[in-house]
Amino acid sequence: MDTIKKIWKLLEQVPDPEIPVLSVVDLGVVRKVNLNNDEIEITITPTYSGCPAMNQFEDDIKSYLQKNGFQKVIIKTIYSPAWTSDWLTEKAKEKLEQYGIAPPVEKTTDKHFILGKQPTVRCPQCKSTNTKMISQFGSTACKALYQCNDCKEPFDYFKCL
Ligand SMILES: [Zn+2]
Repeated sequence: MDTIKKIWKLLEQVPDPEIPVLSVVDLGVVRKVNLNNDEIEITITPTYSGCPAMNQFEDDIKSYLQKNGFQKVIIKTIYSPAWTSDWLTEKAKEKLEQYGIAPPVEKTTDKHFILGKQPTVRCPQCKSTNTKMISQFGSTACKALYQCNDCKEPFDYFKCL
């Protein structure tokens, strides 16, 4: 396996500090992996600034790669274009739902979203779409709190950003 592929594989093992079932690759935080001689350069775009996890990505990625024998790791952080929930992979959305968090149901480029209307969110427990928003803010600023009208369970919805 070539080194770049190996590094992508390793990065898939680095969990999001906040939602450990998702890796930094699932989240779309890792944008690019470059190899200059024996120096690895990883370009990341952290998730939105409201999240406490923001500065942890860099440390987590570095220490995980170093544990796996890659000593020279440089992290380049770019903020533009800004991270958006559109970058979540399909696998990430499935993992989120299994974890009990409803994944974003639309793209930020959708008209519906731009107009600021409430999306139809599916309950991660019973899959009912008969749900309502309780609060704009869930356990963290990146989530909204919903409740299912069928199974009555409250759940977090990962907001489109
Ligand atoms: Zn339900």
